[in-house]
Amino acid sequence: MEKEDCTFCKIIKGEIPSSKVYEDELTLAFKDIAPIAPVHILVIPKEHINSLNELSDEKLLSHIFEVIKIVAKKEGIYDKGYRVITNIGEDAGQAVKHLHFHVLGGEKLPTR
Ligand code: 5GP
Ligand code: ZN
Repeated sequence: MEKEDCTFCKIIKGEIPSSKVYEDELTLAFKDIAPIAPVHILVIPKEHINSLNELSDEKLLSHIFEVIKIVAKKEGIYDKGYRVITNIGEDAGQAVKHLHFHVLGGEKLPTR
């Protein structure tokens, strides 16, 4: 189920162009438009789900994490290491209300 005014649903439909890295029947992975690391990919379910809080399908969750590993291998960051982040809600600064996992790597990432 898609949401009319959702940027990532539009990317899934091809209404907004994206640089795709991986796609299957359940998920899509594409390059972040404003990367904060040499590798910055977003992995999303094709179904519109607002955030991790609304995700209850365990099979989909585990599939997404398998896709994250596939993407990390494709992007050449699997062995050296990478970071996976999902922002949930206001305090985390979630800008796009369609569940997405940031996959970051390609350099030593900042810690705090
Ligand atoms: P959030 O803050 O919601 O976790 O992150 C949303 C991410 O989506 C940001 O890193 C932002 O750069 C990215 N983004 C927003 N709009 C677009 C778009 O139209 N195309 C792509 N490729 N990335 C987008
Ligand atoms: Zn959506």
